[in-house]
Amino acid sequence: FLHLQHCFPAQTLFAWSLLVWTFAAVIVPVVITLWCSIQRSKRKTHMKQFFRQSRHGWHYTDLFSKPTYCCVCSQHILQGAFCDGCGVCADEQCLRRADRELSCKEIMAPSRADGVVFHRWVRGNVPLASYCVVCKQQCGTQPKLCDLRCVWCQTTVHDECMDSLLDATQCNLGEFHNLIIPPHYLYQVNKLRRRHADEYKKLAMDCGDGWTPILVLANTRSGNNMGEALLGEFRSLLNPVQVFDLSQLAPAKALQLCTLLPPGCVRVLVCGGDGTVGWVLDAIDSMKLKGQDQFIPRVTILPLGTGNDLSNTLGWGAGYAGEIPVEQVLRNILDAGVVKMDRWKVQVSSKGLSIRKPKVLSMNNYFSVGPDALMALNFHTHREKTPSFFSSRIINKAVYFLYGTKDCLVQECKDLDKRIELELDGERVALPSLEGIIVCNIGYWGGGCRLWEGMGDEPCPPTRLDDGLLEVMGVFGSFHCAQIQVKLANPVRLGQAHTVRLVLKSSTMPMQVDGEPWAQGPCTITITHKTQALMLYHSSEQTDDDDDESEVEL
Ligand SMILES: [Zn+2]
Ligand SMILES: [Zn+2]
Ligand SMILES: [Zn+2]
Ligand SMILES: [Zn+2]
Repeated sequence: FLHLQHCFPAQTLFAWSLLVWTFAAVIVPVVITLWCSIQRSKRKTHMKQFFRQSRHGWHYTDLFSKPTYCCVCSQHILQGAFCDGCGVCADEQCLRRADRELSCKEIMAPSRADGVVFHRWVRGNVPLASYCVVCKQQCGTQPKLCDLRCVWCQTTVHDECMDSLLDATQCNLGEFHNLIIPPHYLYQVNKLRRRHADEYKKLAMDCGDGWTPILVLANTRSGNNMGEALLGEFRSLLNPVQVFDLSQLAPAKALQLCTLLPPGCVRVLVCGGDGTVGWVLDAIDSMKLKGQDQFIPRVTILPLGTGNDLSNTLGWGAGYAGEIPVEQVLRNILDAGVVKMDRWKVQVSSKGLSIRKPKVLSMNNYFSVGPDALMALNFHTHREKTPSFFSSRIINKAVYFLYGTKDCLVQECKDLDKRIELELDGERVALPSLEGIIVCNIGYWGGGCRLWEGMGDEPCPPTRLDDGLLEVMGVFGSFHCAQIQVKLANPVRLGQAHTVRLVLKSSTMPMQVDGEPWAQGPCTITITHKTQALMLYHSSEQTDDDDDESEVEL
């Protein structure tokens, strides 16, 4: 007992020291981490506020992807901010000075009396693999803030070659001058007392023949954050005023810039999926309603995400993942031809509910009822339930495949031909034993398969994007659908028509328009021609004639 009493204080001491050390080892790092993250978020919100009022389009990065030097203090920096318009970089300490002292690319500015446009040189951080316009050697190779780039024409030149640059002041806006809205044009339009198309045409004479300014509308929500990077690249190559982020501004607002440009020459590049293209085309249709017919632009696509059938039909591919540089994208647009594309109105009138207004949808790609719509609908509802699970593309594919095969077993669309009536241009069509009907406007369906032509083993009536005709096909079931997708089978051709009417007599069926699925009870569906859109198409083979406006068969 005595022994115990003797050692008790030592034990308490030990326990206390253990407690203190545990506290130090666990709590202190936690507190430090918390404090750091609070400071960090404080700094971030502070920075955001500053970015909002600044003259540049600043973006903050924790790590620059290439060797970068601060444009103010010339130090090598790992983190800091860069302006995607003019390419100025600065570390946090120099950011305010950079914003105050270095001017950005001017989106609107008066031209000189003699009409000469000056280069706008920015020193340092020239793009990798850029070459000096004077000595043709590579620029930006020295480990310091060196060499210059013009933010308009993208010409690069060594510091030491600058003196021997012959036209050191004259800038012709470079390779993409036909796509850029020059600052002086906007300045003059802004000064106009009477804003009229004829005045714009007069002003456009300063911009050269063949001037076809482009507006870039990017959806940053589609396709793996590609949109964000594209916005930056287009801002640096073009006038930042002609580049729009659709998450900040609706297409209808962005398209109003068309009404300040000469009619008939404007192009709109939509960066996004087929859904985004439909959104922009709807906004263009509403321009027609506002009486702005003459200002309607031609639409071209840079597809983001995967399986974009409309984009694929027009020759722009099913999905862009950076395979070709943005400069090449612009070159392809300069070479593109114009084609008219039919757009359709899908009217769904539910049976018995005459009080309710019929549902009206716009269609560019296809309408379908049956297995492929069911697949899309199952996928859609499960994605709504557990969105986080569907963030990966591979999981998406697996799930899509599982739902497709599951339907093989349950046969939810069985005996469609007994429950549905099909009329093409007012004439009833006798249906074989079917599970699904697909109505196509464009050549591709289901993420890259040519449905109407099939495998080309039998001749078929030709299709065009502008013939005002829809192609109507039938499928025997989801297994048949899958076979068609891997090009092992053809759908049943039911015919071509200007107007398609479907009457669903009983039960609920899955339906979709342009990939947007829903479940539909007994109803009448009428698909009629709505309007035509002016689209640009890309033909991969180089043609000799540069007759841009010729319309070809697609
Ligand atoms: Zn600095
Ligand atoms: Zn800038
Ligand atoms: Zn220049
Ligand atoms: Zn040089």
